[in-house]
Amino acid sequence: MSDTAALPLLGLHVSPAGGLPKAVERGVERGCESIQIFTQSPRRWAPTNHSDESIAQFREDLEASPIASVVIHALYLSNAGTEDPELREKSLTAITHSLRVGAQIGAVGVVLHPGSAKDGHVGEALERCGDVFREALAESEDCPLLLEDTAGAGGTLGRSFEQLQTLLEVSGGHERIGFCLDSCHLLASGYDVRSIEALDGVLAEADAAFGLDRLRCMHVNDSQTPLGSNRDRHAPLGTGEIGEDGIAALLSEPRFAGMPVIFEGPGLDGKEPQVADMEIARELRDRGRRARGLV
Ligand SMILES: [Zn+2]
Ligand SMILES: [Zn+2]
Repeated sequence: MSDTAALPLLGLHVSPAGGLPKAVERGVERGCESIQIFTQSPRRWAPTNHSDESIAQFREDLEASPIASVVIHALYLSNAGTEDPELREKSLTAITHSLRVGAQIGAVGVVLHPGSAKDGHVGEALERCGDVFREALAESEDCPLLLEDTAGAGGTLGRSFEQLQTLLEVSGGHERIGFCLDSCHLLASGYDVRSIEALDGVLAEADAAFGLDRLRCMHVNDSQTPLGSNRDRHAPLGTGEIGEDGIAALLSEPRFAGMPVIFEGPGLDGKEPQVADMEIARELRDRGRRARGLV
C-alpha cells in the first residue's frame, strides 16, 4: 500500500450486484481507497447467502487491490429499540447475521442506524437497543458494531453524542461497540462541521462523550438541508450546505487517518457515486491538507 495509509481512506458506497467480488471491482474502477457495501438487500429481511467461494474470492481480490478497508452497512428495516417482540427478534437476527458476515469478509465493522423510539419513551428505547446489541455481539465474533448518528428526525435514536454515549453505556461498554459519524446527519442534527475550526469543536465534543478511539468510520456526505434541519437529504460533495470548505476539512482531518471515509451518494449524476465523485473527493482532500498546512 502507498502513502495513503497516513490519510483518511476515501471511498464510496458500491453495489455488490452480481456477487461480493463485483463490489471490489467497482471500487477499483472508481479509484476507491475504501468501500462500503450492503451484504444483503437493505430493504428486505431475507439474508443473502454468500458461498464460501464468493467470500474467499472477495477477500483475495480485496487483498490484491489498492482498497485498504471495507465496511458493511446493515439493512434499514431493523429497529433495535422497538417494543414489538417480533420486530425485535427479526432485528436481532439480522444484526447478528451481518456481524457474522462482517467477520467472514474481514470488515472494519457493520454500520447500523441504532433504531427509533417512535412515539415512545426514548430512555427505554435506548435500553432495549443495548439489550439487542449485547445479544448480537455475544452471538458473533470479531466484527465491531458501528452505531451511526442520525439526522434527528422523529424518534430516531443517535441524534446526539449524548445519546450515542448512552447507547455505549447500555451495551455494557462492549469493546466491539464503535461509531460511524455521518457529516450530513451531524449538520442536520445541529453539529456545525462547515470549517476546520467548527469540526475541531465537534470532534472535541465527541471525544468527551464517547471517546474518539471508538470512532471507526466516517460517512462524508454533503447536505441539502441546513444546520439543525433534522432532515436527512444527502447532496454531492461540495454542492450542499456543508460546502467545499467543510467537505475539504472533513476529508483532510488528521484524526481520520487510516479510517474509511465513505461518500454514500447520490453522486453528481443523481445515482450511485462514480469516478467523478472520487476525483472531487481527492481534490477536496488535497485542498483541506493545504488549508491545514499539511502539504
Ligand atoms: Zn450514512
Ligand atoms: Zn443519511
